[in-house]
Amino acid sequence: MTEQGTFAIEPWVLRETHLDLAKLAQSESVFALANGYVGWRGNLEEGEPHGLPGSYLNGVYEVRPLPYAEVAYGLPETGQSVINVTNGKLIRLFVDDEPFDVRYGELRSHERLLDFRAGVLNRQAEWVSPAGRPVRVSSTRLVSFTQRSVAAICYEVEPLDGPARFAVQSELVANEQLPTPASADPRAAAVLEAPLVGEYQNADGTMVVLTHSTRVSGQGVAAAMDHLIEGPPGVLVESRVFPDGGLVTATAMLQPGQKLRVIKFVAYGSSSERSLTALRDQAWAALSAARQSGWDGLLAEQRAYLNDFWDRADVEIDGDAEVQQAVRFALFHVLQAGARAETKPIPAKGLTGPGYDGHAFWDTETFVLPVLTLTAPEAAANALRWRHYTLPMAIERAAQHGGRGALFPWRTIAGQACSAYWPAGTAAFHINADIADAVIRYVDATGDEAFDRGPGMDLLTHTARLWLSLGHHDPEGRFRIDGVTGPDEYSAIVDNNVYTNLMAQQNLRAAADAAKRYPDRARELGIDAEEAGSWRDAAEDMFIPYDEALGVHPQDEDFTRHEVWDFAGTPAEKYPLLLHFPYFDLYRKQVVKQADLVLAMYLCPDAFTAEEKARNFDYYEALTVRDSSLSACTQAVMAAEVGQVELAFDYLGEAALMDLRDLEHNTRDGVHIASLAGAWIALVGGFGGLRHRDGTVSFAPRLPQALSRLSFSILIRGRRLRVEATHTAATYYIADGKPLDILHYGEEVQLSPGHPKVRPIEAAPAGPRPSQPPGREPVARRRTTEDGG
Ligand code: BGC
Repeated sequence: MTEQGTFAIEPWVLRETHLDLAKLAQSESVFALANGYVGWRGNLEEGEPHGLPGSYLNGVYEVRPLPYAEVAYGLPETGQSVINVTNGKLIRLFVDDEPFDVRYGELRSHERLLDFRAGVLNRQAEWVSPAGRPVRVSSTRLVSFTQRSVAAICYEVEPLDGPARFAVQSELVANEQLPTPASADPRAAAVLEAPLVGEYQNADGTMVVLTHSTRVSGQGVAAAMDHLIEGPPGVLVESRVFPDGGLVTATAMLQPGQKLRVIKFVAYGSSSERSLTALRDQAWAALSAARQSGWDGLLAEQRAYLNDFWDRADVEIDGDAEVQQAVRFALFHVLQAGARAETKPIPAKGLTGPGYDGHAFWDTETFVLPVLTLTAPEAAANALRWRHYTLPMAIERAAQHGGRGALFPWRTIAGQACSAYWPAGTAAFHINADIADAVIRYVDATGDEAFDRGPGMDLLTHTARLWLSLGHHDPEGRFRIDGVTGPDEYSAIVDNNVYTNLMAQQNLRAAADAAKRYPDRARELGIDAEEAGSWRDAAEDMFIPYDEALGVHPQDEDFTRHEVWDFAGTPAEKYPLLLHFPYFDLYRKQVVKQADLVLAMYLCPDAFTAEEKARNFDYYEALTVRDSSLSACTQAVMAAEVGQVELAFDYLGEAALMDLRDLEHNTRDGVHIASLAGAWIALVGGFGGLRHRDGTVSFAPRLPQALSRLSFSILIRGRRLRVEATHTAATYYIADGKPLDILHYGEEVQLSPGHPKVRPIEAAPAGPRPSQPPGREPVARRRTTEDGG
């Protein structure tokens, strides 16, 4: 075990060996437990001190007004913000009347450990109360992957020298007071005071149930808890309720060597449709199921679920222990964000914090779903089914904006548009093509025909219709899409953003192909030969601008003619630029917030030659400031493809350590799920060179010097394909299923079950390392590994 930064470096756990109150909020995010439906931040059980208390139920939000200085047609009048639901993780402890609070007395030791295989957060503390009484407190908590609405905690206390009276008070608390946000950073969240209105409370023995509803959005929330209490004879147990909470207290006099153990089962229910009584009963039922499994049963189910996940999804790296840990941490959080989201979104921060108001963006389809598609495909399908569920709202919004088809919201929780800034919200139409792209990838990887002809085809059709109504043929016969915002939010309302146009082209073709595959569905959707033909024509004629003089693709038609941002005159403290410069100025200069054209080269690889990729990559490296956490992983993938493997390694480090090192200083608001997914993308898409499309799966493995081995698995068309790469050879293996053809640097390799195939690694084309804007270079990964700092 080596220690570096805040956390110890170990392959399968994240260990914090002492409590740093200054980093409490960050650690609450990284230690958050979630299953895609329930999310508990890593708050200390006793509730205080805290950075930011957080208990979330996916899809539970409050509506708030979006005031505008200037009113205009089509702007959303209300927004949605995730709310803190009833906190079920509170357990207060009193030792001889004194509250256990790490700020008082003496904290002799404190360790927290997130175990990626067990799916639990452990805590061990030794504390001496202000009156001089030493005690040990241990807890283990989990948010169940197998029982969607259940979380549980095993909490134990013991005196270390001499007897002491202990009171363990387990609570459910609604409307917990939240700290006022420290900054006016637009990426943080609106704080809603007391969003829950109490409706029903009941306590019975060791059980408490509470139901609440949100004031404006009218959603119901039920929370219930029950306990198993073990201790020496004579433990006194009492319970009570009040409008915003309920508690169960266990009191005992303990001698050294004796323990008081409280196992707390918590269950939730939420809905905007069902009655509070129905929700209460649902929470009760879930609680009974959890009790029936018991604590050991819940632990065993959790481990079995994760064994299965790691068996198909683990990534092994030799040569960088910190990135090895980080990629497992990343996969664990990506799974936590999506595993049981079911008909709910996957927000940009998962359920680890309130950042971005709990909204889901294109992050889900472009970064998270490609990973889930190949490692936990059912979760990817469910996320797309959630989009499909919101389709009627997107169709209505397209009509409101004078278009056909569906216009999906840039940011949302329940499907309604929530962006109050239309140039980077409404105009970021590419989200429609990103959703289509996720559908195409999912179907290509799984061959899930039912999804393809059902929700998949619906999504492809309605998004394709939007492109046709947004774009037009110009006198030269080119299909143009004008006035859009691409992924780079430092340019807005541009004509013919190459990323958008290429992704729309793919969307249009896929919709036309689906109409051909499923003519009955095409009839149902009202697609006639003319409409399908018009999609193909638009795709064929799609305008992809090219700057002949510079020999690069401009990010949009005019981009390369703009003045280049004064990078030399921009000091380090002025980043991220969005917090220090007006958008009007960013928009008219060549400065790139996050990979845009470079992302197009990754997602639409056949639209560029190898030479174009290399030249474009160089050009955009010099302009990209990475003010978004979504950028580094894409730059890693393309750096690897153009042969800049060491630069790719540096970007991998940034994507993977975004939260473990709090690189953007906002992990307190929640972890960056897309960047975490990006760690996997950088390794598998970058150093593994994986691309899959149109029925082909191709690899072009190439490792940076520091890594001696990379090994990963993907689920592809019903097979589990294992890939292992070293500096000299790649080995491909499928254990069972039908034979599979793959491409290794373009050469066909036929895989049959049980017969590994080994192929040599091709040398990287070597060119000079491209430069980045001064001060925005990625931290050199090799140096950090060697220095340990
Ligand atoms: C990025 C967007 C992203 C959003 C949420 C912004 O900073 O520019 O692309 O969707 O963050 O992660």
